[in-house]
Amino acid sequence: MYEVFDLTCELIRRRSLTPDDAGCMAVVAGRLEAHGFRCEDLSFREVANLWATHGQGGPVLAFLGHVDVVPSGPESQWTSPPFEPTVREGRLYGRGAADMKSGVAAMVVALEQFVAAHPDHRGTVALLLTSDEEGPINLDGARRVARLFRDTGQRIDWCVVGEPSSQERLGDLIRVGRRGSLSLKLTAHGVQGHVAYPDKAKNPIHALVPALAELAATRWDDGNADFPPTTFQISNIHGGTGALNVIPGSVVVDANFRFGTASSAESLRGRTEAMLKKAGIDHAIEWNLSGEPFHSPGGGKLRETVIDVCRGLCGIEPEPSTGGGTSDGRFIAPLGAEVVEIGPVNTTIHKIDEHVALDDLERLPAIHFAIAERLLR
Ligand SMILES: [Zn+2]
Repeated sequence: MYEVFDLTCELIRRRSLTPDDAGCMAVVAGRLEAHGFRCEDLSFREVANLWATHGQGGPVLAFLGHVDVVPSGPESQWTSPPFEPTVREGRLYGRGAADMKSGVAAMVVALEQFVAAHPDHRGTVALLLTSDEEGPINLDGARRVARLFRDTGQRIDWCVVGEPSSQERLGDLIRVGRRGSLSLKLTAHGVQGHVAYPDKAKNPIHALVPALAELAATRWDDGNADFPPTTFQISNIHGGTGALNVIPGSVVVDANFRFGTASSAESLRGRTEAMLKKAGIDHAIEWNLSGEPFHSPGGGKLRETVIDVCRGLCGIEPEPSTGGGTSDGRFIAPLGAEVVEIGPVNTTIHKIDEHVALDDLERLPAIHFAIAERLLR
């Protein structure tokens, strides 16, 4: 308990605002090397990535996490300073306490304990950490490492992501997949003019609004056994010159699809384009597919192991879910890995007064240890 508590505090004290690792990787690498791990620095540009392995050959069990955090928001609104780990009423407070420095600390401590207890374990146990999970683009973190692994033939059979998956109690929910994320930036073109002379202009807002209403009201699919229905959300609309008497020449809209396997990125793109074309809108779209959906079906060895470990150590039947945002698991799954996410309660992540329960901090490494033991002892 004290070990994982101390390491979590040490990591929280480091202001690792994405993509700065603020020395977190060196702390982890130093510890794991002392326990016989080989640590490879796979940093790209300003992003720090660490690949630590113990053992050799397959099967390969990799734990995955990130040491970067989102900004604290106004520090004056925090009950205690966000980068000063503080205990109150059985909880540890600080930015990254739940997302996901406690998870990283728990994985490190569990790995140290595992190789100490089973120095001749079969296959390879590994830890992959990045400092670019919370950033907007995620080019040089797990995505870049996965591309490298594809080139070098580095396999990963099972990947445990330590992201905060639990809802109310530790182990009540595990992620067994994630929806895909498809973003679009739509620019609709018109002709700028005076609001008193609309016949001499073409208002792109008027043209676009009914089409946006149709997009927002569309039921894209009904979901399936593995995924909830696809959702579409508009996040930004920018149009107008600021003047009250000018019809704007263009309007720009940002929107995002979260989709399962009942639709594909290609089908969503095609349907969107067709609706805009039918509405007669002069437009251009920049598409960005930031992740395909992935899913680890029931019966998978890792998924069943994690469920059984949660039953035993948390006394709870975890709900296998594919909801929520996406995660770095989306880059590892295409390597052929079974990916499951299990971590602390996520109710305060990214918020003011983020915290993790001390009880959960104690049980987390036990969960990771048990998973490693079942798969590689
Ligand atoms: Zn996270």
